[in-house]
Amino acid sequence: MKVFISVDMEGISGLVRWMDVASQGIDFPRNRSLMTADTNAAIDGAFAAGASEVVVEENHGVEDLCVLVMDEIDPRCSVIRGAGRPGATTMAGLTEDAGVVLLVGHHASAGTFPGIMAHTISYGWFKRVLLNGEVIGEPDFFSIRAGELGVPVGMVSGDQVVAAQVLAFAPNAVTAIVKQALAHQSGNCIPPQRARPMIRDAAEQAVALARAGELTIRKDVAVPYQFEIELKKPLTDTMRDNLSSLPEYSVLDDHTVVTSAMDMDLGFRRCAYLGYADTPGMTRY
Ligand SMILES: [Zn+2]
Repeated sequence: MKVFISVDMEGISGLVRWMDVASQGIDFPRNRSLMTADTNAAIDGAFAAGASEVVVEENHGVEDLCVLVMDEIDPRCSVIRGAGRPGATTMAGLTEDAGVVLLVGHHASAGTFPGIMAHTISYGWFKRVLLNGEVIGEPDFFSIRAGELGVPVGMVSGDQVVAAQVLAFAPNAVTAIVKQALAHQSGNCIPPQRARPMIRDAAEQAVALARAGELTIRKDVAVPYQFEIELKKPLTDTMRDNLSSLPEYSVLDDHTVVTSAMDMDLGFRRCAYLGYADTPGMTRY
């Protein structure tokens, strides 16, 4: 069974603040190693449960999505990294031949408390993202896209808030809660050395459940997907100018843009575009 691992940084064991996951932070080089080690734990668990192939895809949007330490990553996997990937940037490697998706180091949705570094796609711009009227987060984009391809989500590591959000759509998924969120930049952390065996065990269980056909493939969201993106700041003139040439977007009010899509590859790209639409002349996504 081919296993797809999406790895983000905000939910990595031991990390709680924005400066932990930003390249200017004093601990960033060390934290890259922590991210790599949590990922290795999931890779090891996947192979222990009989994975034939593990594809890891980087999802953390700093340094052009190149944060894992390549000479520390488990050599049995392959890693998709770097900007400009085809299709939905962070899901380029998710294909229908995968047997299960594992989410390592993920985080809670924008607008949910106390989720550590809770956000959805763009921390700078997005206050909340709604899909068909419900607040969604990044695990929703992954799980809905995976569902379109017939692939279940089997595991998440991160804080208790993202774990609950994943269990809401994937009740049989396995969770590795490596920290208890206390606020957006505060948590009670299990030290990484103890968290990694939890991640390894969760990944092993998840792949075993996938091989037994006991995970839920997400099919609960109606198409076309209707997105409402609430912004933290009013739309700028540059954004309005760019959006005026893109009929697939409508401006609802000075903080809200709506768009829709028939699949989540396009849906993700249409939402993500609004995070960089404040660039003169930028009308591609
Ligand atoms: Zn991230």
